[in-house]
Amino acid sequence: MRIFAGIVVAVVIVALIYSFGPGDEPAPVTDDAVSVEVPVSGIGMIDDARINNADSEPGNWLAYGRTYEEQRFSPLTSINRENVNQLGLAWVKDMGSSRAQEATPIVVDGIMFLTSSWSRVFAIDAVSGEEVWRYDPEVPGETGRRACCDVVNRGVAVYKGRVYVGSLDGRLIALDAATGKHIWTVDTIIDHDRFYTITGAPRAANGKIFIGNGGAEFGVRGYVTAYDADTGEQVWRFYTVPGDPSLPFENPELEAAAKTWKGGDWWEIGGGGTVWNSIVYDPDFDQVFIGVGNGSPWTRVIRSPGGGDNLFLSSIVALDANTGKMNWYYQTTPGDNWDYTAVQDMALADMEVDGVMRKVLLQAPKNGFFYVLDRSDGELLRAHPFATVTWATHVDMETGRPVENPELDYVDKPKWVLPGPLGAHNWQAMSVDVEAGVVYLPAQDNPLIFAMSEEWKKTGVYKRNPGSMNLGIELGALGQIFVDNAAEQPTQKGYLKAFDPLTGEDKWVVEHPHYWNGGVLGTEGGLVFQGDALGYLTAYDKDTGEVLWKFNTYTSMLAPPISFAIDGVQYISILTGSGGGDLFAGEPVAPVPLPASATYGNYGKLLVFKIGGNVELTAPTVVDRTIPEQTLGDMSKEDIGRGERLFGAHCSVCHGLVARSGGVIKDLRFMGPEKHELFNQIVLEGILVSNGMSAFDDLLSTEDTERVHEYIRHRSHEDREVALGNSDAARLTWLGD
Ligand code: CA
Repeated sequence: MRIFAGIVVAVVIVALIYSFGPGDEPAPVTDDAVSVEVPVSGIGMIDDARINNADSEPGNWLAYGRTYEEQRFSPLTSINRENVNQLGLAWVKDMGSSRAQEATPIVVDGIMFLTSSWSRVFAIDAVSGEEVWRYDPEVPGETGRRACCDVVNRGVAVYKGRVYVGSLDGRLIALDAATGKHIWTVDTIIDHDRFYTITGAPRAANGKIFIGNGGAEFGVRGYVTAYDADTGEQVWRFYTVPGDPSLPFENPELEAAAKTWKGGDWWEIGGGGTVWNSIVYDPDFDQVFIGVGNGSPWTRVIRSPGGGDNLFLSSIVALDANTGKMNWYYQTTPGDNWDYTAVQDMALADMEVDGVMRKVLLQAPKNGFFYVLDRSDGELLRAHPFATVTWATHVDMETGRPVENPELDYVDKPKWVLPGPLGAHNWQAMSVDVEAGVVYLPAQDNPLIFAMSEEWKKTGVYKRNPGSMNLGIELGALGQIFVDNAAEQPTQKGYLKAFDPLTGEDKWVVEHPHYWNGGVLGTEGGLVFQGDALGYLTAYDKDTGEVLWKFNTYTSMLAPPISFAIDGVQYISILTGSGGGDLFAGEPVAPVPLPASATYGNYGKLLVFKIGGNVELTAPTVVDRTIPEQTLGDMSKEDIGRGERLFGAHCSVCHGLVARSGGVIKDLRFMGPEKHELFNQIVLEGILVSNGMSAFDDLLSTEDTERVHEYIRHRSHEDREVALGNSDAARLTWLGD
């Protein structure tokens, strides 16, 4: 009865926390401080009925998107247009993270359950901010290198007294909600030689836990798995792309899908189609919608040289919740060529469309079109663009297919394309206001210049590299390609939009100078909350977009705010800390301003606000961005160029294009003498692996490492010279002349 005893302890302690007045210290949580026996109740006892009736308890945030519909629109009204100017900090918790925090907390009966970076789980008293328990899955530092987009986690599911988390290294873990004690772990990864991860929040429904994986950039095959919530036993698994066609197919749907893949050895590289974010349970039809990711590699001419749609890449797939059998699919980007995942959050709603009430699914995937589908059969009802889209002119509503812009085909020549791989919208949550008929949407214009792999162009052969990203586009020389085509680069911008998915019109638009901003919360109090790259959490009037309140958190934000209420007091909470998929873009070039994370540092905090809150947040010291002087080595231009190519291929995705970091991962231009001294040991021996900086001795020789090192020294030196006014412009690249 060890588990039961643990629950008793925590119930007692939580009760103590609540009964104590301000300033009293609650007793510490220990294993053996057993008191009276009380029924197992109260802590994390969320079930299907409660989530289905979430509107009857608007003070709680019971599931990832608050309800099964995942509209992320809070019915609470205590914080509203009239008093939001008195909103202040109730409490703040330092989460001990300097990486991106992306989680949506679950709040139930006074306890907040959430994750931080490295898949660490916290249970926190939602009124006082006191920690109830924490669980560290002790993800090995080596895993950092296996994650395309930072060591992030988007949250937990809380279900029937348990907390479920997916760890970055691919474990699905069940914890006791009262104590944080471990109950069971299952390994969700089918092949540990491939770089599978988990960053998404599990979803719980119908006695099952649903979870997918990340890893398409490195070359994996995507799937989603349902596990029994009690035992962790696998109930079903659905693969999103066909495997080796010489082997039996897992189901008839995949056999049919294989006919849309033509000529390539996609199963060698992986195929892609990871389900790394959105999984939504539909109680109306007892089905689960999964958002399927991009192709692996990105470039279709390598992946499937004979053409074809490559099902079920970039698709929304409806699966029977009990069997995992496919009900229907809709492919947003047939023959994906741009990393256009359809994994972005999906919301469900009942909406009148053309005079008929429909049960609809809403999604704004990376490709820039906002889809409205009928949930019963996947019928396409609307597909309006919501940001600048150049890869396609429109979606043909007769065929349901996008009409591609042939001028932006990049097989022969690099082309700037909008959206880029960060998408016109990424995983940052949107909020659906059904009554107003709009979606509050964090959108962006963030282009990439797509260029084919130079190795493939030279040899016609593309070889999968097991330790590296396998994109099919050119990463090694991308800095040079950027420089060569900088004049044609489209404008970068971020937006918060009140977007009508049926008409495609913007009710209002707020422009952000930086493109990479946070998720969104709308409330019945007439407010829309969003954190941004410059470190401000802002409340906008939901009817007009007018700024009604803003608060400087001094840290860039990606996570969505949520709202909850306890004892009649409404709260707004948000996690701070940027990173994620934008590590590669690095330090922005003017006119895009520096994000707060580069100005002040990337402080992972949990901030909770209430009306009249008066806790002060101390302004951090502004980071000294003086680039230290470098001792340049004596190396040929050709060897520095080789270093540049290797840096581009293996380092830039975290440390930033042309060795300029955006402030989250170490900016190598700022390395001091001691780091220069240890450079080879850091890169080849992994002495900083606990930070996520794994050894790269499988990809780099000692000579290569020295070339990379000299390239960084030169980049550092020339940016310093520009900053000191000794030079007009940095050279940036050694490859072009
Ligand atoms: Ca991707």
